[in-house]
Amino acid sequence: MIRVALLGATGSIGQSTLDVIRRNNEQYEVFAVSGHQRLTQLLSICQEFNPSLACVPESAAAEFQQQLRVVGCTTEVLCGTAGLEQLAAGSQVDVVVAAIVGAAGLLPTLAAVKAGKRILLANKEALVMSGALFMEAVERHGATLLPIDSEHNAIFQCLPVDFSRRSFVEQGIEKLLLTASGGPFRGWQREALLSVTPEQAVAHPNWSMGRKISVDSATLMNKGLELIEACWLFNVQPEAIQVVVHPQSIIHSMVSYRDGSVLAQLGNPDMRTPIAHALAWPERIHAGVKPLDLMSSAALTFEQADETAFPCLNLAREAFRLGGTAPATLNAANEVAVEAFLERRIRFTQIAEVIDRVLNLSKIRPANDLQLLLSEDRLARQLAQQVIGQFH
Ligand code: NDP
Ligand code: MG
Repeated sequence: MIRVALLGATGSIGQSTLDVIRRNNEQYEVFAVSGHQRLTQLLSICQEFNPSLACVPESAAAEFQQQLRVVGCTTEVLCGTAGLEQLAAGSQVDVVVAAIVGAAGLLPTLAAVKAGKRILLANKEALVMSGALFMEAVERHGATLLPIDSEHNAIFQCLPVDFSRRSFVEQGIEKLLLTASGGPFRGWQREALLSVTPEQAVAHPNWSMGRKISVDSATLMNKGLELIEACWLFNVQPEAIQVVVHPQSIIHSMVSYRDGSVLAQLGNPDMRTPIAHALAWPERIHAGVKPLDLMSSAALTFEQADETAFPCLNLAREAFRLGGTAPATLNAANEVAVEAFLERRIRFTQIAEVIDRVLNLSKIRPANDLQLLLSEDRLARQLAQQVIGQFH
């Protein structure tokens, strides 16, 4: 039995992961789970899977333990960030699925890295914030990092089997083609974007996801974060990554080789495919995903991203080029701005403005210390709130 710790079990990736495990329950055991606000859902997860451990916020721990007792669950409750770190690093855990959204996932994901676990990474913000530190720790502690972000998982599947992060060029790889759906506002001009609502922004045409990443997809910040994610995962510079808008989301990304070959990974847009791939790698298991029917699928089309109407992609590229703490600052400002947009405190187009201003106001420092990164994250959040306050 492979024992899985699922951080962010109540979210969209969490649910997809549970579904894959449900279909393969002779091989995988849900050993530990975490939730934040949707604790009723976490309780039913505990009833179904009876994990050994569950982590909830400190303020909810006593009541949650009581509720577990009432329904006859023997799950032990841990709490807070320390509890999440304990879940991720526990000696009985074989695989950690990092599916908490945003910076809140950084410390637990790093704890899994430092414990040398096999990590299925959905929480791209953790890697964006702390790229160099994160990848160094992966190396030092012998952790296995497998991407479940669909594009990165596709690239991983299209790379040579014995791919080495050190010799991208020697392996004949010229370029990574990172696909993007373009989100719900593909083709819209800036003027039209001024008045879009949170409801419109979270209605993604192809994928069903949590609210934050749905807004990121609409602004193209998701692609920006993914560009940074790919730079760290595959050890390349942004110049070696071409963003390709592919509205049907059937091709999930590609690798272009020196000899003219372009390898692509295709499938219906369903996160259970990359999750199942990474869970079982290098084997293959059932994911419950409908096979792709090419005869009835729409024509596959490709276009360039509109970086004028959607400036977030370039803001991310620039933050990566600036290096040091800049990506952590970008990420923090984005999280605050997205929340403000969802609460209707700012316009959709102001998300990019907040990030741009916060980046301009921030001093970039070398990102070689975790405490420093965390304090930059806090500072950028304060700055973002101040900038938002000035909009009124
Ligand atoms: P959701 O919003 O659906 O889920 C987020 C999860 O994180 C929930 O379990 C939530 O708990 C938990 N959480 C939220 N805030 C905190 C906190 N402060 N402390 C601890 N836990 C917290 O998001 P998604 O599942 O869509 O996304 C998760 C991650 O995966 C993100 O980083 C996203 O970018 C990435 N990803 C998602 C994809 C998708 O298709 N959904 C695709 C590729 C990457 P609760 O719900 O109980 O409040
Ligand atoms: Mg993705």
